[in-house]
Amino acid sequence: MAASANQKKVPLNRVRNIGIIAHIDAGKTTTSERILFYTGQTYKIGDIDEGSTVMDWMDQERERGITIVSAAITTFWTPVLANTLYQDEHRVNIIDTPGHVDFTAEVERSLRVLDGGIIVLDAGSGVQSQTETVWRQADKYKVPRIAFVNKMDVLGADFHNTIKEVNQKLGAKTAVMALPIGVENTFKGIVLLLERKAIIWQGDETGAKYVVEDVPADMQDEVEAARAKLVEAIAETDDQLIANFLDGKEIEISDLKAALRQATCTNAIVPVFPGSSLRNKGVQPLLDAVVDFLPSPLDRGAVTGVNPDTNEPEVRQPEVNAPFAGLAFKIQADAHVGRLTFVRVYSGTLKQGSFIYNPGKRERERVGRLLLMHSNDREEIDSASAGEIVAVIGLKATKTGDTLCEETKPIVLESITFPEPVISLAIEPKTKADQEKLGLALNKLSDEDPTFQIRTDHETGQTVISGMGELHLEVLVERLRREFKVDAATGAPQVAYRETITREVEAEGKYIRQSGGRGQYGHCVLIVRPKVRGEGYVFNNKIVGGVIPKEFITPIEKGVREALANGVIAGFPVVDIEVDVVDGSFHEVDSSEMAFKIAGSMAVQDAVKKAKPVVLEPIMKVEVTTPEDYLGDIIGDISSRRAQIQGTIQRGNARVVIAATPLSEMGSYATVIRSLTAGRASYYMEPSHYEVLPESLAAKLLKVNQPTK
Ligand code: GDP
Repeated sequence: MAASANQKKVPLNRVRNIGIIAHIDAGKTTTSERILFYTGQTYKIGDIDEGSTVMDWMDQERERGITIVSAAITTFWTPVLANTLYQDEHRVNIIDTPGHVDFTAEVERSLRVLDGGIIVLDAGSGVQSQTETVWRQADKYKVPRIAFVNKMDVLGADFHNTIKEVNQKLGAKTAVMALPIGVENTFKGIVLLLERKAIIWQGDETGAKYVVEDVPADMQDEVEAARAKLVEAIAETDDQLIANFLDGKEIEISDLKAALRQATCTNAIVPVFPGSSLRNKGVQPLLDAVVDFLPSPLDRGAVTGVNPDTNEPEVRQPEVNAPFAGLAFKIQADAHVGRLTFVRVYSGTLKQGSFIYNPGKRERERVGRLLLMHSNDREEIDSASAGEIVAVIGLKATKTGDTLCEETKPIVLESITFPEPVISLAIEPKTKADQEKLGLALNKLSDEDPTFQIRTDHETGQTVISGMGELHLEVLVERLRREFKVDAATGAPQVAYRETITREVEAEGKYIRQSGGRGQYGHCVLIVRPKVRGEGYVFNNKIVGGVIPKEFITPIEKGVREALANGVIAGFPVVDIEVDVVDGSFHEVDSSEMAFKIAGSMAVQDAVKKAKPVVLEPIMKVEVTTPEDYLGDIIGDISSRRAQIQGTIQRGNARVVIAATPLSEMGSYATVIRSLTAGRASYYMEPSHYEVLPESLAAKLLKVNQPTK
């Protein structure tokens, strides 16, 4: 590790925190690799096909060829082409984002902390349902983006059709900045439209030189037409420019670029570039565009949160001297230094050796060391300021999504919301020796990933893990084996049901034992009421006049939380419930934390039973793409799976059926669909929401899981 305090400090307007966003196979890993190469951080290029990339550090990812872990890597880029808006060196922090829907937590957490993104599209397959998913996620977090139409060299690559799909299917306004020269195996470069310059790469290999030439004669007309459209599209975003445009005045390139920067940063338009990462074409202009058009932390402006003591809104400016506020967006176990917490600093300065505050956990944390992660190196730094992304060593209580701040200036930033896991399976250590290791390892993994949950089944005593999909759990079990050396056997994947209540009730819990010696005395009255689906669990202390002393409230909450996690009617966690503790009593001598914990647990179990409990099941959004011929069969089959068919659309010459279907009905769907359509249809599914399980089906679960007392 290069320990140095002379970290290259770059003014905030020269920082770009970006993510490379794509669905699987569009070329995110390859593009990231090339970016790391061209920004000078990696000297040997990894290639995903041979399984040796820098961003995919985990062995498994290499084997699977997908990126799971979101790490932040610091790079530097000085624009290389003429006519860029900026010519200075910029710091480009790349936050890795995964492309598979099973890793929602990773995608959401990374989108939350980046300021802009490169969306990688596959010119060979256009906009697919997964592209739509990542695009919508970027929309949700209002991430300004540039689109990179990758794979211009593949058979069937179609730049214009891909853009048309971006316009039509994603509803995005695009600024086509460059045209490809050649296509498929003749693809060799691009024409920058505003400059009217061709950039031609002299070969396919990484680091291949390029030459800047005049526009090829046979492309002149096409270039002029596309340029006129581009100028109009940019001018439309700016009142002054559109006036000049309508008057037929020539607009300076620098004015167009400045307006485009503005429009991109406000999500009004998406600049588009063609290229081929694998063939090393188009990457340098893309990096120039990142600097030119994506926002700096200053452009993104202040963040807002709430003061946890007063519930009043609080604002933090991206200023070095403002009070410190940051968001922990990733916990990563590191073989060399232990637990790394990746923090995006929003305001103020985070200093090595200082104490910071985690307002959500009400804990002080000591900042041990601060690291800047480069792709092949780490650099120890003294401090990290507003707009920077840094890995912190030494934080203990902080989890993904937590706000960190100055203790005297508390603020809670909007937390990252994570969906409930939909699939679970039982897991057992293969040997006694693995037992303890398994528990520790599972806890570490769930620290890193909030969509990965662990619980103990009360009847069987088995450990049950839950996650966002089979792949998600498979990867985690594999990590147990490789990183933690724990061998575990797993049961068949099960649908992760939930319990909830449907009306408000009051219930009482009394745990009183007072026959000789020191007794036990815990007593509380709770009101429970349903919350909106997806809102989770909230606990409120409504005790007045000290009928229960303050120190017993936390134990009551603990008892409530544990009872809810274990489930009440069918052994599934109870969700979407608000619990108020409103009354109770205590005994000067006999009351203890334990007695109140038990009382809380008893009260909430009784309350749930009285509050008309129901079982919830996960519903998936399913999209089946099929040739027209099989449409009837597909619809017939999916209808028999309690599906709600939401519509069918035309995509190219295929039909897409969109449905909401209970996960429990989707077992072996891959096999069924293959045999129904001779392998010609494909499908894609992702968790959507939870719905009440019909009573007849719920009854079966209750019998199976009802404790026999
Ligand atoms: P990711 O899943 O989005 O990270 O995609 P990868 O970078 O792993 O790429 C998926 C596959 O597409 C790999 O086999 C790559 O070699 C290939 N690939 C990526 N970019 C290009 C490209 O520009 N042209 C061609 N022909 N193949 C590419």
